[in-house]
Amino acid sequence: MTVNQPKVPESATVFYRDTWAEVDLDAIRENVAGIKSTLPDKIEFMAVVKANGYGHGALETAEEALKAGAGFLGTALLDEALDLRAKGITAPILVLGVTRPQDVPTAAEKDITLTAFQDEWIKEASDALAGTGAVLSLHAKLDSGMNRIGMKSKEEISRFASAVSASPSIKVTGMYTHLAAADELDRNFTLKQLKEFRRMGEELEEELGRPVACRHAANSAGTLLYAEAGLNMVRVGISMYGLAPSPAVKPLLPVKLKEAFSLHSRITHVKKLQAGESISYGRTYTASEEEWIATVPIGYADGWIRANQGGDVLVDGKRSPIVGRICMDQMLIKLEHPAAVDTLVTLIGGQGTEFISVEEIAARLETISYEIPCIISARVPRVLKKDGKTAAVHNRVL
Ligand SMILES: *Cc1c(COP(=O)(O)O)cnc(C)c1O
Repeated sequence: MTVNQPKVPESATVFYRDTWAEVDLDAIRENVAGIKSTLPDKIEFMAVVKANGYGHGALETAEEALKAGAGFLGTALLDEALDLRAKGITAPILVLGVTRPQDVPTAAEKDITLTAFQDEWIKEASDALAGTGAVLSLHAKLDSGMNRIGMKSKEEISRFASAVSASPSIKVTGMYTHLAAADELDRNFTLKQLKEFRRMGEELEEELGRPVACRHAANSAGTLLYAEAGLNMVRVGISMYGLAPSPAVKPLLPVKLKEAFSLHSRITHVKKLQAGESISYGRTYTASEEEWIATVPIGYADGWIRANQGGDVLVDGKRSPIVGRICMDQMLIKLEHPAAVDTLVTLIGGQGTEFISVEEIAARLETISYEIPCIISARVPRVLKKDGKTAAVHNRVL
């Protein structure tokens, strides 16, 4: 797919290094449409684009998801939501994390919905809003078992509802909870959480003295594996980027997902080592015979962490091992045959019939796939592709 990638991307925004991540916006559109097709029409789709769209670029992934039928966006931080507003996104946005009460007027002014669950917060937010004329829309967070944020007890719900009722500038437009184990094969805890959420939701409505229109509970795993978790809205992150919520549930998913993220570089130097010569810091690798070694300009400052040593990359459609310590900005690979300077190296993604998945990297690093595109640092430019053409380039270094 990327073997014929031009050396300089055809775009207005440039970068001056031969290492870049590619984001397939068509895959994101297909993933959103595919996931939506498994849901009843009336269920709203929130595209979760926190952390720069899980490292894929928040603006373009948000735009693509909205075009494919998403009606809501989710971010973790108010800063992320404000960034989307500043770039022209007018769709409803919910901040999923905790926002400081003193920042509530800023959110309200930009029509950004916040998450809240503490009565003290409501009072402070209400004070901050006083005299501004702005009205805050919020979704109340109920903790059904994640034990991260949200109301747990009837007393908390009651105090929260009283504080809301006393604050004319604050409207509860939704309520939600977060699932802790929807990506595991054992369904018991998730079913218990969903039941608990229903019960707590009724308590909240009773205390508020009115129904709350929008209810949501499902992350990607909940959306794809629990029909009853859909309620009014789903919050899909990882799977819109084409990744399964976990290897365990991957075979159970009702849609085929396509990975949107790939990572590439180009060989900067090639040399032949003699038997007994070592490479890189700490001399952890020694050639046992004559060996072709190539230098690739990516390192741990790019989020390509040292634990990738021993993994493979693709060169000329074949796997080549990463040998020796990975440095801050460069690493070394072993080639079967000499390759020319500028030869494409694919660290994540496909070349010919070979494919290195995000999941393979996650297994190599003993972590989850979520972490991989997120930790590829801002120093690695993102080239966003649409219909095979470069739609945008992000280089946050320049
Ligand atoms: C990140 C997040 C999501 C999305 O989860 P995925 O597993 O990536 O689909 C949904 N809800 C909340 C509250 C989140 O923080």
